[in-house]
Amino acid sequence: MPHFDIITVGGGLGGSAIAKVMAERGAKVLVLEQELCFRDRVRGELLAPWGVAELRELGLLETFRTAGACEVPWLDLGTGPRDLVATTPQRLPALTYSHPQIQEALIDAAQKAGAEVRRGVAVQGIQPGADPTVECKGNGSVERITGRLIVAADGRNSAARKWAGFKSQRDEHPFLVAGVLLSDVSAREDLCSIIFNPNSGTATFAFPQGNGRFRTYLSYPMSAEYRIQGKEKLALYLAESVKAAPAFAGFYANAKDCGPLASFDSNDSWIEHPYRDAVALIGDAAATSDPTYGQGMSLTLRDVRVLRDQLSSVSDWDRAGHRYAQQHDTYFANCHTVSGWFRHIFQEQTPAAAVQRQKAMPLIAQDPTRIPDHLNSGPDLPVDETIQLRFFGEC
Ligand SMILES: Cc1cc2nc3c(=O)[nH]c(=O)nc-3n(C[C@H](O)[C@H](O)[C@H](O)COP(=O)(O)OP(=O)(O)OC[C@H]3O[C@@H](n4cnc5c(N)ncnc54)[C@H](O)[C@@H]3O)c2cc1C
Repeated sequence: MPHFDIITVGGGLGGSAIAKVMAERGAKVLVLEQELCFRDRVRGELLAPWGVAELRELGLLETFRTAGACEVPWLDLGTGPRDLVATTPQRLPALTYSHPQIQEALIDAAQKAGAEVRRGVAVQGIQPGADPTVECKGNGSVERITGRLIVAADGRNSAARKWAGFKSQRDEHPFLVAGVLLSDVSAREDLCSIIFNPNSGTATFAFPQGNGRFRTYLSYPMSAEYRIQGKEKLALYLAESVKAAPAFAGFYANAKDCGPLASFDSNDSWIEHPYRDAVALIGDAAATSDPTYGQGMSLTLRDVRVLRDQLSSVSDWDRAGHRYAQQHDTYFANCHTVSGWFRHIFQEQTPAAAVQRQKAMPLIAQDPTRIPDHLNSGPDLPVDETIQLRFFGEC
């Protein structure tokens, strides 16, 4: 007999969420999380309306609210404020929060729902197959534990996906994303600002968290002469952000950092069909998407919902795992395609992209609804040539 129905490798957003919702449905769940205390790793802190809808479906909205999540109804892409509640099919705002606070709240919620949570325990191997096993180390001792299903939710540098024998695909982009939490920012607290500067291939982001604190990012070409990494680069970060988006000069006039400053690659990397031999991958372990387009947490919550629904609908969990993986391929592919369109129009520094922009940008300025809305409204919107041609100013 396996020790547990489900063992999650990682107790971040994905691992804790699946643990909570499956423990609530009577599954015996074990969460293995290496961190004793979550810290700011410069991760996602803006959840798009379609991700908020997933959260609501999972019954986790209240957990986020209690952990301090703020509703942000307005979004400005440089074309003027847009009311997300009035204009998304979900009729929902975006949600912003401190990522580590949400991680603590979720892992706590998983435990309260009946999952066994072990912290300070690092998984160091997985054996997929009929009796899938994890090998983990904590308190100086190594243990092998079997489950009926292993859910690998160990993030963008997932080792679990390699141990379980998955092959990843990679799409490399010539941009980096720097981010830092700032205090003393003078900007609207009910509005997220995202300004693309196609001439320089940069994009600047500010997402409010209340009381003058904003999670901010700057996406910039890898060809830049600098790397924005470490506290000592704050002045450069602020200066480059304002250069990319002059409207941010007022926002950042008195800004101070209140967390680490780090840059990440913006590559997409994913697994086709993220299930095999009683191991399911979810969240960033299944697909890491370009942070510039802020889809990672919504995708993670979609993974949790789809996997939960499949595991709850059939007793054959192998079948459930394959069905989850099939759905994952479709919705991730849609996100991937649409993000590629955005990168081409708003960021790429190639002659072909410049020509396309000359057609697209004047039409977008007249009618911002030409911009596809998948990043707010989700990957179930149609993704076809008509949508692309309209965005690209070809019709
Ligand atoms: C710069 C940046 C900005 C982003 N901005 C956004 C945004 O605005 N909106 C958005 O939706 N998404 C954003 N994202 C993406 C988002 O942060 C991720 O998609 C999300 O955090 C994925 O959650 P996860 O649970 O899969 O992984 P993680 O949050 O990385 O959690 C993985 C967990 O597994 C644990 N772990 C790892 N290895 C082991 C092991 N061997 N044993 C035990 N535990 C282990 C880790 O400690 C961690 O707690 C951004 C990402 C980056 C890098």
